[in-house]
Amino acid sequence: MAETLPPQIHVFVRDWLSANNILLKSRDGHVLIDSGYKTHAPLTLALLASGRGLGGEPLATLVNTHLHSDHIGGNAAVRDVYGCTIVFPDSEAPIIRRWDTKALLLDYADQEADRFDIDQTLHVGTSQVWGDLEWQMLASPGHDMGALVFYNPEHRILVSGDALWENGYGFVMPASLDPDALPAARDTLDMIASLDVRFVIPGHGEVFTDIGAALDRAYRRTAAFEADETRVARHALKALLTFTLLHRRRMALADLPSYVDRVGIFRDFNAAVLRMTPTALAAMLVDELQRAGVVRRDGADLVPAG
Ligand SMILES: [Zn+2]
Repeated sequence: MAETLPPQIHVFVRDWLSANNILLKSRDGHVLIDSGYKTHAPLTLALLASGRGLGGEPLATLVNTHLHSDHIGGNAAVRDVYGCTIVFPDSEAPIIRRWDTKALLLDYADQEADRFDIDQTLHVGTSQVWGDLEWQMLASPGHDMGALVFYNPEHRILVSGDALWENGYGFVMPASLDPDALPAARDTLDMIASLDVRFVIPGHGEVFTDIGAALDRAYRRTAAFEADETRVARHALKALLTFTLLHRRRMALADLPSYVDRVGIFRDFNAAVLRMTPTALAAMLVDELQRAGVVRRDGADLVPAG
């Protein structure tokens, strides 16, 4: 018999521009985890309003796993419609409150999100009841140093954000820029491996149950990153360029050298780790993404392959 999540959990599987939206329903108030990317807010609102979503009922609370734009980009729009309380990991709340666009990877990474206020914060080591289920707040630094994952021991469910996907996890900072990031990512995998988990609801991709295989892949990736910092930087910049391409739909190939020279995170990773000319960096990113089948050339432009 297929294993299924408790019926009050509804997962809207999105894509790589918008994180998954997880709706936890309860008579005590419905809770949404993560709101997707800003430009996808109309679709997020439509899914929420649908019969599989709230179906006209109010949303009490919006929670975020971490502060990246693909998770918080719909917060302002969701709050405008539902007037819900916004609850955020406490270690990241100051960054949101001062709207630090570099730490949020907004203009620094050529991404967008509308500003919003936080009403309550989540503390590591405490529990919250969402959807009539008790969730433990667990620190999951690495990809994002203040991120949380949410764990329900009763049904052995992990809401993993970008700390663990079925195939990998969210990019991490190279050691030259943050020496704590990759060791923290490994520690977070160890923490997750210590949990008894039957279902993982990741920030991106389908719900999965074979957490052992996912951890094996994540540990292999971590070992490869630990052996070669340039791999960390290349992986991150490929993920960031793919994200921008999903956001913009197309980019002129001729503009890419000036793009990687102008956008802060590309410039900083290149200066600290890769040390290539902007033209060589742009060519390498396009070549590797093309060979991975993620992007393709369309005339003079680069477009998503999908
Ligand atoms: Zn993230």
